[in-house]
Amino acid sequence: MQNDQRFSELALLRETFESGITRDLSWRISQLLALQRFLIERERDIAAAVHHDFRKSAAETFLTETGYLRGEIRFALKHLASWMKPRRVSVPLIYQPARASYSPEPYGVVLIIGAWNYPFNLSLVPLISAIAAGNCAVVKPSEHAPSSSALIAEGVDHYLDQSAIRVVEGGVEASKALLAERFGYIFFTGSPAIGREVMLAAARHLTPLTLELGGKSPCIVDESCDVRVTARRIVWAKFLNAGQTCLAPDYVLVHEHREEELLHYMQVAITDFYGDDPRLSPDYPRIVNSDHFHRLKKLLDGSSLWSGGESDQGECYISPTILRGVTPASPLMQSEIFGPLLPVIAYAELSDALDLIRSIAEPLAIYLFSSDREVQKRVVAHSRSGGVCINDLFFQAALHRLPFGGLGNSGFGVCHGRAGFETFSFQRSVLCRSCSPDPALRYPPYSWWKFRLLKPLVTFFQ
Ligand code: NAD
Repeated sequence: MQNDQRFSELALLRETFESGITRDLSWRISQLLALQRFLIERERDIAAAVHHDFRKSAAETFLTETGYLRGEIRFALKHLASWMKPRRVSVPLIYQPARASYSPEPYGVVLIIGAWNYPFNLSLVPLISAIAAGNCAVVKPSEHAPSSSALIAEGVDHYLDQSAIRVVEGGVEASKALLAERFGYIFFTGSPAIGREVMLAAARHLTPLTLELGGKSPCIVDESCDVRVTARRIVWAKFLNAGQTCLAPDYVLVHEHREEELLHYMQVAITDFYGDDPRLSPDYPRIVNSDHFHRLKKLLDGSSLWSGGESDQGECYISPTILRGVTPASPLMQSEIFGPLLPVIAYAELSDALDLIRSIAEPLAIYLFSSDREVQKRVVAHSRSGGVCINDLFFQAALHRLPFGGLGNSGFGVCHGRAGFETFSFQRSVLCRSCSPDPALRYPPYSWWKFRLLKPLVTFFQ
């Protein structure tokens, strides 16, 4: 879309919002149902688009994109009417007679900028919340998943109310042009580096925003865990999407007594899931582009391999890879890996593992495998992150009832379910009083006797 056209479309969205139509429960429901129809009727096309972008399997696309989105819509449809209800609050005696309440109100026209790694999920989950909250929206999917971006644009055009919801395709320039405009709210998913630029742009218009960023999410494997199950779950989570997941375990910290066993079972799991040659597995995706391929290859070349390490530049293929002997000073530990390389670091004392985690900026998630309740409590109490999942990975982000978001370097603000609805709403307070009585006490001149009477009233009766 060209700039002039974009600005006229923005003006149209603002008009639509001002008309008040998007505030109606019936409009919100109709749009959510239309989005649901898109996901059901175009399920095969969605799987094909994601496969075309980075060779992800249809099963994984259903699990992490279409299926999840349909669940999010069903959950919103079920609870929307109750989320929208105003909440009455009691009014202290000195303000009586009066009624007071507050209700969630939409921000207006909101901007959603998505990342490429779960292209439908990351653009449409916030869109579901934005619609549920009664906003108009502009969605900018990532240019790095072009087939998915084109299908999102086509689906939104065809299924949704075009006067209220638009997709703008394009790369950095499109994103910057949009950020120069005034929006009611900005919801950004991407890297911490770009998140900073988005926040600077938002500051120009004082626009509130959510940043869903990435980071180095650690996975602690305590002595007391079931090592075989732990290994299978870590391998599943790390190599899903070929490690290109914001929530992926970035590195493993394993108790030194279980290190050999864990490494053995992880290798068994890799072979079980992807066969002897993962390149031939229909379930193993590719790295999204050659820039990311070369970035990962550089990390790989300077590290000591335990298993995997095969690559093919032509296909942007890097096999599931486990690295051993990685130190905190290694390049692998300096930023989010965001690919299928998994460093495994042994620790002797849990406090050493916690110290290492605390020395790195706040992650999106912390994972712990342990059957010891004391260890579970200690890890939660002595660490900071957007979320925690004990004895599994990822599912803290799958529950529609759990808010999902980061902290510090991994972002701020939350999404999913009611938390997403509240992110795209502000709370508007309304107080309705009566014109009588109208005691002179509140008005100047404040004589000494008025002041004496006002003091206890203000102090004790509010
Ligand atoms: P990215 O930051 O490169 O791009 C994200 C979006 O920002 C894209 O739509 C892109 O067009 C736009 N963009 C790029 N440069 C820009 C600029 N200078 N100004 C304005 N907009 C710009 O991220 P990516 O490579 O698409 O995704 C990977 C990152 O996203 C990883 O760090 C990952 O952890 C994170 N991520 C976080 C979550 C989460 O929910 N917290 C989910 C997925 C990915």
